[in-house]
Amino acid sequence: MKNAIVVGGGIIGLSSAYYLKKSGWNVAVIDQGDFSNNCSYGNAGYVCPSHFIPLASPGIISQGLRWMLNPKSPFYIQPRLSWPLIDWGIKFAKSATARHLEESAVPLRDAAIISQRCYEEWNSSPDFDFAYEKKGLFEYFLTKEKAAHGHELVEKAVSLGLDTVFMHADDVRALEPQTRINLEGAVLFRGDAHLYPNKLMKSLLDHLKQQDFKSLHKRVTWTQMNTFNGSAYSYPQRDDTKNPYRKHVYDGKIEPLDCESLVKSAPSSQE
Ligand SMILES: Cc1cc2nc3c(=O)[nH]c(=O)nc-3n(C[C@H](O)[C@H](O)[C@H](O)COP(=O)(O)OP(=O)(O)OC[C@H]3O[C@@H](n4cnc5c(N)ncnc54)[C@H](O)[C@@H]3O)c2cc1C
Repeated sequence: MKNAIVVGGGIIGLSSAYYLKKSGWNVAVIDQGDFSNNCSYGNAGYVCPSHFIPLASPGIISQGLRWMLNPKSPFYIQPRLSWPLIDWGIKFAKSATARHLEESAVPLRDAAIISQRCYEEWNSSPDFDFAYEKKGLFEYFLTKEKAAHGHELVEKAVSLGLDTVFMHADDVRALEPQTRINLEGAVLFRGDAHLYPNKLMKSLLDHLKQQDFKSLHKRVTWTQMNTFNGSAYSYPQRDDTKNPYRKHVYDGKIEPLDCESLVKSAPSSQE
């Protein structure tokens, strides 16, 4: 049987473990925490093929700079003199092009559609309970200018095969007559779904625990990743200690991770 180490037990790591186990691999998941202190537990739970526009898109830079300085914005980054942050910012700015937007639409749509199928498969199993519902998603526009952009969005979404309609303000208000809704128009993406991420993560973890799930609580360093031996991961070899960025995350203790012995020695949920 083949052995794999998965680093990080968020939705990406735990679903990787789920599908690896299903394909007959021995898997150990390493996480620095207890699998609950991560984005996957606390996000908004949208599963949305409608999110085919990448964050790095034209116009985002000026808006992003305003957002970055506002702690209440969805894109707040604590200002600090940090090379990784500057490096990331340069790459982000270079990616915010019309071409990137065009090239990303299909892969982003497809990743969300594949995720939806996986969630629907899990949702049909009695092992999982995460309040999955496919009721669509509204995007409201508060100004006439933004509502005009809504029409372009519908056109693009329909060209990508997504069941999407523009709704006028009064039609939206008629759906919720008890609520005063301030808007100029809305787009309804009928194919979007939502779920409770905390329930999803708990269900997934509980399911894995019934499947001889092996886990280790440990913070993995870049150095260890580079020395993985025979694992599913392959990182470029670098002299970490000379790289200021890598040195920053290096915790001072080199302890190579050997995939096979680690997977075999990791405590099992059934022990
Ligand atoms: C406010 C908010 C709302 C969001 N809403 C949505 C939404 O509605 N829909 C949607 O699709 N996406 C949403 N997202 C994005 C989504 O939450 C993330 O894309 C997703 O959870 C990332 O999953 P992950 O497994 O990659 O990372 P995480 O969930 O962050 O998990 C990473 C894990 O790796 C572990 N780890 C990290 N470094 C190490 C190390 N060196 N050694 C050992 N372990 C380590 C951490 O402890 C953690 O458990 C939202 C994000 C935020 C912040």
